Amino acid sequence: MMRESNLQPDMATLLQRVLSLEQRKGYRDTAVAGGIQRFLDQQTPIWRKHAPHHHVLIDEICRLFARYQQASVTERKQIVEQALTLLTHAATPTHTQAVSPAPDNHVTGHPVLRTRHHHSARPQSIRPPSDLTLDSPVTALAGVGRQRAHQLAGLGVHTIGDLLYLAPRRYEDYRTIQPIGKLARLFAAQRTDGEVRCTVIGTLTTLEQRESQSGVRYVYAEITDQTGTMPIIWFNPYVARQLQVGMEVAISGKLELQRAMLCFRNPEWERADEASVQTGRIVPVYPLTRNLSQKQLRQLTRLALDVALPLVEDPVPPAILEAHALLSLRDALEQIHYPDTPEHCEAARRRLAFDEFLVLQLGLVRRKAEWQAQPGQAFPTPPDILETFLTSLPFQLTAAQRRALDEILADMAQPRPMSRLLQGDVGSGKTVVAAAAALIAITAGAQVAVLAPTEVLAEQHARSFTRLYERLPDELRPNVALLTGSTSERGRRAIEAGLLDGSINLLIGTHALLEDWVQFQRLGLAVIDEQHRFGVLQRATLRAKGINPDVLVMTATPIPRSLALVLHGDLDVSIIDELPPGRQVVQTYLLTGKQRERAYAFIRKQIEAGHQAFIIYPLVEESEAIDAKAATVEFERLQEVVFPDFRLGLLHGRMRPAEKEAVMTAFRDHELDILVSTAVVEVGIDVPNATVILIEGADRFGLAQLHQFRGRVGRGAAQSYCLLISDSESDESRQRLQALVKTHDGFRLAEIDLQMRGPGEFLGTRQSGLPDLRFASLADVPTLQHARRAAEAILRRDPTLSRPEHRLLRQRMEQFWQPGVGDVS
Ligand code: ADP
Ligand code: MG
Repeated sequence: MMRESNLQPDMATLLQRVLSLEQRKGYRDTAVAGGIQRFLDQQTPIWRKHAPHHHVLIDEICRLFARYQQASVTERKQIVEQALTLLTHAATPTHTQAVSPAPDNHVTGHPVLRTRHHHSARPQSIRPPSDLTLDSPVTALAGVGRQRAHQLAGLGVHTIGDLLYLAPRRYEDYRTIQPIGKLARLFAAQRTDGEVRCTVIGTLTTLEQRESQSGVRYVYAEITDQTGTMPIIWFNPYVARQLQVGMEVAISGKLELQRAMLCFRNPEWERADEASVQTGRIVPVYPLTRNLSQKQLRQLTRLALDVALPLVEDPVPPAILEAHALLSLRDALEQIHYPDTPEHCEAARRRLAFDEFLVLQLGLVRRKAEWQAQPGQAFPTPPDILETFLTSLPFQLTAAQRRALDEILADMAQPRPMSRLLQGDVGSGKTVVAAAAALIAITAGAQVAVLAPTEVLAEQHARSFTRLYERLPDELRPNVALLTGSTSERGRRAIEAGLLDGSINLLIGTHALLEDWVQFQRLGLAVIDEQHRFGVLQRATLRAKGINPDVLVMTATPIPRSLALVLHGDLDVSIIDELPPGRQVVQTYLLTGKQRERAYAFIRKQIEAGHQAFIIYPLVEESEAIDAKAATVEFERLQEVVFPDFRLGLLHGRMRPAEKEAVMTAFRDHELDILVSTAVVEVGIDVPNATVILIEGADRFGLAQLHQFRGRVGRGAAQSYCLLISDSESDESRQRLQALVKTHDGFRLAEIDLQMRGPGEFLGTRQSGLPDLRFASLADVPTLQHARRAAEAILRRDPTLSRPEHRLLRQRMEQFWQPGVGDVS
């Protein structure tokens, strides 16, 4: 077997992970597809060099992915599946590290839960082959051939390690073993509380193939113990071939009434003398692929645990396990599959979730520490200048604004670079806080850049900042310039000169600001609005235009603190959780499709009164193209049939940026009465004259997003309205939408949404940027916080993770945060 260099990660495995990730994400994101292509471009030459024996495979992979980014979703699916099959078959069990006999760190840090020693009870015949590692392909397991490997690949399981980490979807509790004679009474007593599940052990006394009146074939059997006999029905005729009368078996399942006869229907079964993986205990239920039964999967995970658990080394040092009351990794892996009790199961899940969070937080905390270790510019606040600015404003800052501003200014006064996230609901007044911070940097002789996601927003900011500085004395008033895609060549030259000679203090713009020619004399602060639109890369580009400038990221998407810790864990967070006084509450109504005509009549009245309206269509289809088409059809219907006398504009994700800008500008300038838009487009514009927003298919949106949409109205003096249309009858969606009707607090809604829908949905997959978490749930804030504290503690003592006890942690972290993989996740 070919041993690869120690430094070279096993490319086949890495690629398998990347592709499985893409598989799970549904192939839809073209940027991700591009990321995969880049990843291959960069990595295949290295791979070739280090693994010449793979050249046929590598050629084939290169050929498959040559046009991956341009491929359709269906084609991508085929390409990835083919590649995964190739990788599964071709992967040699390569090693990234020598297998050392793991020290027996089987101690558990958990104060209550001690687990039984399963291994001693296992048959002695199972012994790990000496060259087996967790990276060995599943085919290294006895009885696993190509076909089985292929089935497992469908679950993203390629190696023995993957099998250990295959998360059960749920569990069935078959712990209670009952005498058959008691089942009738048990059923009568417990059926009112829900289903009755149990295990019985006995002898098969009857076994026959039968056919029902409607011609369905089934297996009829009877199991007998000393106390009685119980019928069993299986609709899988295959079962009969494995059983015979006289066999001692264990049966686990739900008790059911079949024509007044108590029986087991399609229960799990095992020979009574077999190692029990699915009777008499809490049994895992795995996600399934075709042709692979639960029983087969259970036998496989059992085998993998028996063979490979001794190879598992715990990456987390014992002191940390103890401090956070965590199970050892071996115990956790055993118990996640075959828990002794529900409590063990939860403890196992918690440990595995902790690991995922820990790796994530290590990367974030380290990034933050590295960034802050660099020398930055200190901008102490001259109190009189701040005072002058604040008294020049036509309003008083709210307490929340003041608190956020103080946090920002205290950070800026430090001689290290600030990395701060400013969160605040729509209309909470983030701009004035940013303007104050900018003024302080400018007073100290630095320049400030403000980056906005769209041209309309950049223009809006330019107007807001100018207005906010309006009443400052001349000598304090910053010189503000605007740079967008539409800035003329002459305008650009003037900006170029003004930035270099320092006469421009504040440059506001779109991503045009990131172009190479934009050079500052002294960039001291970069403000980034609507952060989720910009990647880490853009943030870095902007940063690089100054000498470690302070960075302030602003977002109007309220993110619960827990989630902020994951998404922006490398940033400090300030929150404005209060709206300026006197803000009107947007009246929100929940309607059904039948009331649509009334909604249109209402919109008509508003427009006749001189106002404007938004109509939003949801993401219905898989593809943006189909959505755009649906919206176009609706748009035409609205224009021709419903509102022929009004001026309508259409906005969808398939339009070019310039076209979008033109429509938004027309709406802002009241050249349009109604803006029809798909949800893909964020209508982040301030149009105080718009008083009503109608949202179709409202149940398809997250609350946070609906709240964002609602924030588009109610910006002027006139009472505004939000009309939600939904025909969903599910309790859950009614409940969610009712929350929106009743609650106007974005943070509260974000929490509700996170609880009800989970984080992936919460942020919308398109922009989530969320890491792939298998055991961890973002709703599990306590574990997340434990991991955060652990990461901080570990890095405080060992900032580079170079101590021997952190070797495995560092490996995992680097794998997780690897540039190529990070790009596509
Ligand atoms: P957002 O947080 O959505 O960016 P803005 O900064 O655009 O909010 O502020 C929304 C509006 O509220 C602006 O017109 C702004 O001038 C006004 N505003 C901000 N702070 C206050 C305040 N403390 N009192 C009254 N009005 C305020
Ligand atoms: Mg804003």
